[in-house]
Amino acid sequence: MPAIKLAKQVEVPEGMILLSGPLEHDNIVNGDGLRAVLWTQGCPNHCLGCQNPETWDYNAGMLVSIDEIIERLSKFKGQTGLTFCGGEPFVQARACREISERVRKEFGWDVWSFSGFTYEMIKEFGGEPWEFLKSLDALIDGPFILKQRDLSLRFRGSKNQRLLKLEYGSGRILNIE
Ligand code: SF4
Repeated sequence: MPAIKLAKQVEVPEGMILLSGPLEHDNIVNGDGLRAVLWTQGCPNHCLGCQNPETWDYNAGMLVSIDEIIERLSKFKGQTGLTFCGGEPFVQARACREISERVRKEFGWDVWSFSGFTYEMIKEFGGEPWEFLKSLDALIDGPFILKQRDLSLRFRGSKNQRLLKLEYGSGRILNIE
């Protein structure tokens, strides 16, 4: 079987990230605890029934420096973690990883991410996407599949998606929900 090709990454200058919307705080629907949320721009997955198709375009959104993101996040008090939503965070893997490592180190937060790719695909991509995954505590993986939509699931939209708890640093799966 041919290796899965590395997902086309959004081209942004080093130290920058392309966002699709403003940073959120006090969010309780995108992970455990009280969370800040970062919405990335650009998604190659194009799931039928996606609620945010305006986030697909690799050339739209707002280019923001990572230093500015950290500065803005530092003003959010009482948060337990940060969640990356999209768009597809793994097509800006280098920038997301840098933010992930910094909020862990500087604020003591845990870090979650959504992805339309599966854990197995990200592992196969290797490179920056896999390095970003290794910086996480949890991944909600897989595309949104309209036919499998289930509103009763925690943090997920369709039955195929999994909530994977990960070992920081290795990417090892600790628990699957
Ligand atoms: S991965 Fe997410 S943002 Fe991308 S098309 Fe699917 S549901 Fe929409």
